[in-house]
Amino acid sequence: MPANVLDGAEVARQTRNELRARVEAFTASRKRPPGLGIVLVGHDPGSEVYVRNKLKSAGETGLRADLHRLPEDASLVEVVAAVRELNASGVHDGILVQSPLPAALGPEAEQVVFDEVDPAKDVDGFHPVNVGRLVQGRPFLVPCTPLGILELLDRTGTPIKGRHAVVIGRSDIVGKPVALLLLHRHATVTICHSRTVDLPKVAATADILVVAIGRAGFVTRDFVKPGATVIDVGMNRVDDREQARKLFPEGHPRLAAFDRRGSVLVGDVHPEVWEVAGALTPVPGGVGPLTIALLLSNTLKAAEARS
Ligand code: NAP
Repeated sequence: MPANVLDGAEVARQTRNELRARVEAFTASRKRPPGLGIVLVGHDPGSEVYVRNKLKSAGETGLRADLHRLPEDASLVEVVAAVRELNASGVHDGILVQSPLPAALGPEAEQVVFDEVDPAKDVDGFHPVNVGRLVQGRPFLVPCTPLGILELLDRTGTPIKGRHAVVIGRSDIVGKPVALLLLHRHATVTICHSRTVDLPKVAATADILVVAIGRAGFVTRDFVKPGATVIDVGMNRVDDREQARKLFPEGHPRLAAFDRRGSVLVGDVHPEVWEVAGALTPVPGGVGPLTIALLLSNTLKAAEARS
């Protein structure tokens, strides 16, 4: 029997609908909507799409969202100045600097810029103060994708307490914070990465398997305990037909879509896992939509805390 679909798009819709009412109440009482300021440097095509979606979703939910654009050749001083301006703004409760920053700004640029964001407005949850609070189990603003994963597990009635969660990936954006959130909810957590020995064997002990590595279809059926809940965070654009063919058989609608468009968006989990898992997030339509919903939720949270 194929796995149940963990429908992130539907959970995101529910979350945004509930937020809309709270945003209205905030706007009525404070005489202004919660405000989000986004800093976008350069013209990375992926970032353009993400930012457009964030602005649209914020507007539809009743928030104010402003885009602060800087050219591809902006200096680090200019990017920091844009962040400081938003730190000082009375109408912006949340600040987001779209990643990645142009490579020309140097390997330390993101750390420097993220550290400049006022922790009270840090809706991405990347500032060391917010990371520290999460580690200590008294979270304030937590990274949006991990929050979205917990929202999805909760709203689909997936138990966490006492279960074994394996997280593949240890990034600051996804792997580490989702592991901490699961730990604080009393899961027994194992974190895996590129040097983990015998990864499929470790993964196959998971009741809840979270995969955030950025490699198309990497997690195959031998990584998955029958009946496990699998959360596929990966978002990988495949533009090689041979690779797409390894994921989808001839005649599959996703392969037909590849043939029409020349690429297909896939997760880190191979589609064959649908035959083994108990529940699985689709890509697209799983974790992705929740990330934006939780960004809006974090902005409202920051606005409420600030006022
Ligand atoms: P990242 O910073 O590149 O981290 C990748 C992690 O995966 C690293 O910890 C790395 O291990 C591990 N890894 C890489 N290859 C591996 C392998 N062969 N075996 C085991 N572990 C391996 O990536 P990220 O930012 O966490 O993103 C991961 C994926 O999630 C990407 O596809 C990204 O696009 C997607 N994503 C989606 C959303 C969403 O909203 N849906 C949000 C954020 C990210 P080491 O630490 O040992 O190098």
